[in-house]
Amino acid sequence: MLDELECLVRMESPSREAVAIRALVDRLASEFAAAGATVEVHDGHAHGPNLVARYGQTGRPVMLLGHTDTVWPLGTLAEMPWRVARGRAHGPGVFDMKAGCLMALETVRGLAAHGLRPPLEILFNCDEEIGSESSRKLIETEARESRCVLVLEPSIPGGAAKTSRSGMADYRIVLSGVASHAGVDPDKGVSAVVAAAEIVLALADMNDPENGVSVNAGVIAGGTRPNVIAAACAIDVDVRFRTETQGRLIDERIRGLSPARVPARIDVTGGIDRPPLEATPASRALFESAARAARASGFEMGEGHVGGVSDGNFTAALGIPTLDGLGVDGLGAHALHEQIVVEDLPRRVAMLTRLVLEQAA
Ligand SMILES: [Zn+2]
Repeated sequence: MLDELECLVRMESPSREAVAIRALVDRLASEFAAAGATVEVHDGHAHGPNLVARYGQTGRPVMLLGHTDTVWPLGTLAEMPWRVARGRAHGPGVFDMKAGCLMALETVRGLAAHGLRPPLEILFNCDEEIGSESSRKLIETEARESRCVLVLEPSIPGGAAKTSRSGMADYRIVLSGVASHAGVDPDKGVSAVVAAAEIVLALADMNDPENGVSVNAGVIAGGTRPNVIAAACAIDVDVRFRTETQGRLIDERIRGLSPARVPARIDVTGGIDRPPLEATPASRALFESAARAARASGFEMGEGHVGGVSDGNFTAALGIPTLDGLGVDGLGAHALHEQIVVEDLPRRVAMLTRLVLEQAA
């Protein structure tokens, strides 16, 4: 498994590098086919291909969801080479999520080797790290036909599954005022910068960390020169929330913002990108099943909440039981110290195989 993981990591596959991603997808497709799956490669246009592999009997399948793209540009291997040391394997995308792709492949191989044919579908998209624009429809269509979705994204460091994820919204808020000479005609201007300052503070007041709501005005840009009253100012905002209701309320509040001190115009664009992955009775049952499968495979698997989003947010919002973060234990996703725990790899595959069999039964 480690040799094959090395090959997958050495095939660098950053988002938007369609040629590089196609090479990886072709390799995975031929391995899935060799294991007895039927493979479809869907054109994701400029982003590269999305891979669907179907295995086993007909009927509502268990879906394994993952992505082939990474956040690392071509050539990253030169500074961040593949290496195995002290029980850890390092390299770009090893944790997020080449190891997860390998888990899916090994699970199919293991089932085939034992003559087991549960209905199983594997979907790897090529643009998860940049918002899944080319693949969201495909993921949603396939998920609707599935009995559950198991997302092979990295686990929480320590190996815990992700039983809930925050939802995410983003906004651009543009304030439009009236320019004038700050020395000569200060009373003729309407400062978009002053209006923006007010809005930024109003946004900061919407934070509610105890209930998992964060509102971050991360970028602000406006004005031209110190002696000009600013005619325009834009604010880019990232919002995270735990429940659909919270998301709706924050969305209403942001759309209702208005500067009180100066009569600048306010335009709000954007909105909710990803609904939250909220725990449901069915997803609780799925986690319990995974925890049992882990125990039978020789390890304890905990659970937790994360603020980051994945394609699991989309499938959960459709009401399909979704369990995320089933990937190999490790740490440093999107960071230079990205790594996985090597000894976790085989037992994770054993866990996933047991979980698939129980869910397909
Ligand atoms: Zn990922």
